[in-house]
Amino acid sequence: MKALSVLGSTGSIGTQTLELAEEFPDRFKVVALTAGNNLDLLVEQIIRHAPEAVALAHPERLSELRERLNGLEPSQRPARLPELLGGNEGLEAAAAWSTADLVVTGIVGCAGLLPTLAAIRAGKDLALANKETLIAAGPVVLPELEKSGSRLLPADSEHSAIFQCLQGTPYAETARLSTGTPTPGLRRIQLTASGGAFRDWDPADLHKATVADATSHPNWSMGRKITVDSASLMNKGLEVIEAHYLFGLDYDHIEIVVHPQSIIHSMVELADSSVLAQLGWPDMKLPILYCLSWPERLDTPWRRLDLTEVGALTFRAPDPARYPCMELAYAAGRAGGTMPAAMNAANEQAVALFLEEQIHFLDIPKLIDGVCERHKADLTAHPSLSDVLAVDAWARQAVREAAARLQAKTPAALPA
Ligand code: NDP
Repeated sequence: MKALSVLGSTGSIGTQTLELAEEFPDRFKVVALTAGNNLDLLVEQIIRHAPEAVALAHPERLSELRERLNGLEPSQRPARLPELLGGNEGLEAAAAWSTADLVVTGIVGCAGLLPTLAAIRAGKDLALANKETLIAAGPVVLPELEKSGSRLLPADSEHSAIFQCLQGTPYAETARLSTGTPTPGLRRIQLTASGGAFRDWDPADLHKATVADATSHPNWSMGRKITVDSASLMNKGLEVIEAHYLFGLDYDHIEIVVHPQSIIHSMVELADSSVLAQLGWPDMKLPILYCLSWPERLDTPWRRLDLTEVGALTFRAPDPARYPCMELAYAAGRAGGTMPAAMNAANEQAVALFLEEQIHFLDIPKLIDGVCERHKADLTAHPSLSDVLAVDAWARQAVREAAARLQAKTPAALPA
């Protein structure tokens, strides 16, 4: 029985993890949950999973949560109410919860950084979904992993695919969970990308893109921020940096290929030129389950892949004119140090403003580019945690200021 701490339990990754816990009740139990604002869903989850601890990002809402739990009908009330925790300290305590064996990091954005570090420092194994943590703070996270011996199991479907392909090679024993050092025999990674919501749009029409357009993913059902990142291909750019940290390849050997069917979840090329791929329907439950069950494979009743049903698998190179964020991410990754933290924070803030309909879709890359250009002069090559947090805060503020200037120039031009 593996005990799970699920960070971001009310999100897309979190809810799918809890569904898996219910699907395999003799294999997994939930001991800790964390959430942001969604108290309705959180209360339901507490009733169903009876965790030992629950942390809320916003401590001012703890009393409301306590009241709701105390007001539950006796038939719904868990035998023991969870310990309630709040704020960053609470999230970190839930991440490091003593009875947890595996921590699923489903918080969105750099808000996941401190809880993830707390889990690592407590020696917990991680199912890493929250990619922004590694992107913003790779140089801080990797040494902590080395020190604590925590294992990092990639939940992102592409990195899970790479991880699964490496399990089948003679290098698996030494490299399967190593981070930041080149994986022996691994020559090239090809990350597949669906191409996102705008893959078939004429780039000349992108200025008309609305929030509804950008949040309609053709293949995957995910949270809003990552869905916008998929539309801009920033998500794939972030995954390139994530792959660099996880598997140790330089950026010239990590490529992106648009594969609209999302059946191949990524590929590795080995030293002898052999290419291995992992295939499956686009469903996040599969990579999440592999994190939970690793190194075992569990039997599932899920729909089996039928390639005759899929028909054709197609591939094309991503068009830099359609996806300017892709080059911004490569450039930030290559610059290293605090540059990925600046780029990631700029992206988070720009996407948030886009979702609030404050800026255009095409303003996202412009704002990120502006922040990265400005950060070149202040880049710290070997950052500490406080350097990363300071750059993150600076970049968000810089984007807010630049966006206000943009709005002042073109206030009425947002697409309906
Ligand atoms: P969602 O937006 O669906 O969920 C985010 C979760 O984080 C929610 O539980 C939310 O709480 C919580 N949260 C939001 N802000 C904060 C905060 N400031 N402090 C603490 N908790 C917070 O995101 P996803 O599940 O889509 O993505 C989560 C992570 O996983 C992201 O990093 C994403 O890149 C990665 N990922 C996601 C995939 C997917 O299929 N969804 C695939 C691969 C990676 P609440 O809702 O209660 O406010």
